[in-house]
Amino acid sequence: MNNDNIESKHQKSDRAWKPFILNVSMVILIFILGIFIGLFARNKHLIEAEILTRAKSYFQNIVFTRRWNADYGGVFVEKKKGMQSNPYLENPDIQSVDGKVYTKKNPALMTREISQLAEKEGIFSFHITSLKPLNPGNVPDKFEREALNLFEKGVKEFSKKEKENNTVYFKYMAPLVTEENCLQCHRQQGYKLGDIRGGISVKFNIADIEKNLKANTFFIFALGGLTIIILLGVIYLFIIQLMKKLSEARKKIEEMAIMDELTKLYNRRYFFIKILEEFQRSKRYGKPLCCIMIDVDYFKRINDTYGHGLGDKVLEQLAGILKSNCRAPDTVARYGGEEFIILLPEIDREGAVTTAEKIRILVEQAGITTGAGTPIPITISLGAAYFSPAYLKKETDYQQLIKAADAALYLAKLNGRNRVEIFES
Ligand code: GH3
Ligand code: MG
Ligand code: MG
Repeated sequence: MNNDNIESKHQKSDRAWKPFILNVSMVILIFILGIFIGLFARNKHLIEAEILTRAKSYFQNIVFTRRWNADYGGVFVEKKKGMQSNPYLENPDIQSVDGKVYTKKNPALMTREISQLAEKEGIFSFHITSLKPLNPGNVPDKFEREALNLFEKGVKEFSKKEKENNTVYFKYMAPLVTEENCLQCHRQQGYKLGDIRGGISVKFNIADIEKNLKANTFFIFALGGLTIIILLGVIYLFIIQLMKKLSEARKKIEEMAIMDELTKLYNRRYFFIKILEEFQRSKRYGKPLCCIMIDVDYFKRINDTYGHGLGDKVLEQLAGILKSNCRAPDTVARYGGEEFIILLPEIDREGAVTTAEKIRILVEQAGITTGAGTPIPITISLGAAYFSPAYLKKETDYQQLIKAADAALYLAKLNGRNRVEIFES
C-alpha cells in the first residue's frame, strides 16, 4: 500500500458519494417542486373562487332587483320621448290626471335595460333566457342552452371560461325559480310556484385576471426554479466541502496507520506488508533482495547524557539521513525504539554493502546537530542480509531475510559496533 494506492482508494470512495448526492438532490428537487406546485394550485384556486363569487354576486344583485320590481307588480316610469313601451305586456302605458304618460317596466324589461347599461360600461352583462322564450331576444346561446339543459336535470348552477373575439370571458348561469310575485303576471302562462322557467346568465371579461394569473404562475415557477438552483448549489458546495474534509481526514488516518509519528518513516506494520510483497515479486522475477537492519550504538547513554527529548531529535535526524541516502524503490522504516530497517529490492551484494557503509560513515562524520551548538557524536551498527535470486527461489519465508539482517547486526555489535556486517545466501 503506497501513496498511489491510497489515492486511488480515495477516488473510488469519492465516486461512491455521487449516488448519495444525486438522491439527496432528487428528494430536495421533488420537495421544492411539490411546495411550488401546491402554491400555484392554491393561488389558482383562490382566484377562480374569487371570480365565481363575483359572478354569483352579480347574479344575486339582479335577482334582488327583479324581486323588488316584481313585488310591486312592475314599476311605472314616465314615458320620455323615444321610449318604447313593452310590447309583451297587455296594457304597458297609463296616463295620469295631469296628462303625463307612464310606461310599465316589468322585471324582464328592467333586466334587459340594466344589462345594456352595464355592457355599455364594459363591466358585465347578463341575459335572461329560457328554453321557450316569449321574446325572441331571450333565445339562449350555446352556453345558456347547455346550462338550461343541466338545470332541467337538477343542476343548481353552471359556469365556464370561454374565449370570444380574442378575449376571455367568465360565464355564469343559475336558474330563475318562479316565486309568488312572478305569478301575478305569469299565472296565465301556466307557471306554478317553484317552476324553473329559465335563468339569468352573467358574463364578464376576465382577460386581465387571466393575464395576472399567467404572470403570477410565471413568477411562482421562476421563484421555485431559483430556490431549487440556489439550494442545490449550496448543498452541492456543502457536500463537496464535507467530502474534501472527510477525504483529507481519511487520508490522514490511513497515513497514520502506516507511518511512524516521530520519524515520519514507515512503521513496522507497513514494513511487513511491503517485505512480503517484495519477497514474492523478487522470487517471481528472479531478482535479488536485500535488507539492512540499523541500531544506534549506546543510545541509552545519549538519552542519559542529553535527555530523552534530544534523543528523539537524534532519531528524527537519523531517519532523515537514511531516507535521503536510499533509492525510490527502497522502503525505510522504523523497526522499533532506536532500530531502523531498510528493504532494498533489485540490488546486488556490493550495492547493499556500499549503501550501508555510506550511511555508517555519514552518521559517524556528521553526528547529530541538535540546534544547541556542537553536534552529538553518534555511531550506528548495520547488519545487511543479501538473498540471491537462486536462494530466493528456494526460500519460502520472508522472515528469514529479517532474521539474517538481525544476525548480521548482532555480529556488528559483537565485533565492536560502528560497522557493517553482511549475511549472504
Ligand atoms: P547498543 O549499542 O547495545 O544498542 O546500546 P543501546 O544503549 O543502544 O541499547 P539498548 O537497547 O539497551 O537501548 C536502547 C534505548 O533506546 C533504550 C530506550 O530508552 C531508547 N529508546 C527507545 N525508543 C526511544 C525513543 O523513541 N526516544 C528516545 N529518546 N529513546 C528511545
Ligand atoms: Mg536496540
Ligand atoms: Mg542501540
